Amino acid sequence: GSTIGILGGGQLGRMLAVAAAQLGYRCHVYSPESDSVAAEVAARFTCAAWHDAAALAQFAAACDVITYEFENVPVGPLGALPHGLLAPGTRALEVAQDRVREKHFVEDVGGTPAPYAAVDHDSELAGAVDRIGTPGILKTRRDGYDGKGQWRFENAAEAQGIRIPQSGSVYEGMVRFEREFSVILVRGHDGEVRFWDSPVNTHRDGILARSELPAPAIVTEQVAAARALAQRVAEALGYVGVMTAEFFATADGPVFNEMAPRVHNSGHWTIEGAVTSQFENHVRAICGLPLGDTASLSGRMVMQNLIGEECLAIEQHLSDPAAHLHLYGKAEPRPGRKMGHLTRVG
Ligand code: ATP
Ligand code: MG
Ligand code: MG
Repeated sequence: GSTIGILGGGQLGRMLAVAAAQLGYRCHVYSPESDSVAAEVAARFTCAAWHDAAALAQFAAACDVITYEFENVPVGPLGALPHGLLAPGTRALEVAQDRVREKHFVEDVGGTPAPYAAVDHDSELAGAVDRIGTPGILKTRRDGYDGKGQWRFENAAEAQGIRIPQSGSVYEGMVRFEREFSVILVRGHDGEVRFWDSPVNTHRDGILARSELPAPAIVTEQVAAARALAQRVAEALGYVGVMTAEFFATADGPVFNEMAPRVHNSGHWTIEGAVTSQFENHVRAICGLPLGDTASLSGRMVMQNLIGEECLAIEQHLSDPAAHLHLYGKAEPRPGRKMGHLTRVG
């Protein structure tokens, strides 16, 4: 087939559409937002609600394969899609959309998440904080990203009076980590799995600020175990495409934080820093093409996110002739909004 459908209209969809175009595919973006930055580079665009069954059916009829760039696409309406059209499938979405379900799933394949307790009602919070201890983080089970929907408690008193949303929360003990890193893999139609180098990730205010290589020894020593776990997750999900798992490197080994069933911000450096980018390999995987080489072109790279008004200093960013500037074409540089990124390789 030659038309790829992308559910979700953000920068990840935009970069997927660019990679797809290079391989000769057309893209059709489906998004509930009328100002999609992915639609600006894609051939076709449908703006309709996730639950608009007629619009979704029409979109599906125009696509040879459908993927997603946003893990919170409601799963219900996707059940009506012809079997085999969606890659990765709905299973990965169901697991990754719910932090409690995701942790259970990872434990079932031998992984270690942070100590946690599901908190589905206001009345359960004090008991969970008591069991897990402080400091800790309360997270909404669903819909959180970029650190949104999270509350940090230094002591039990700070948890008093917090209202738990209808869809529930999870309370996690604060992991005393040395560094954070991610495993970025691609799994093909035939089950072949390839990994990119694992960057060390730094967050600011719950938002990814930088991904860097080389990673320090504490990370490189834990990558093999983290990769093995991520691969078991991908296999158990029958996954096809790029998948990312975030880890904490701790004195006791890698602790699983969360997964993303899609291309990931910590993999943006692969556009210039690897033989084949995460975006190209996602397209190759979902289209049934052979996977490209994931080797890094250099052992040194820095990917820096441009958050909010950081995107405005274009001349400064380009004053380094080795810097690759990516701007996502978003109209308003609101605080905390990912506007672009900068990659330096070598
Ligand atoms: P993303 O944008 O990556 O999807 P998110 O909103 O889903 O982010 P998390 O990845 O759960 O949020 O948390 C954001 C950051 O907060 C983590 O990368 C880490 O720095 C810190 N953090 C989250 N949970 C814990 C924990 N249990 N212990 C220590 N730090 C944590
Ligand atoms: Mg997340
Ligand atoms: Mg995260």
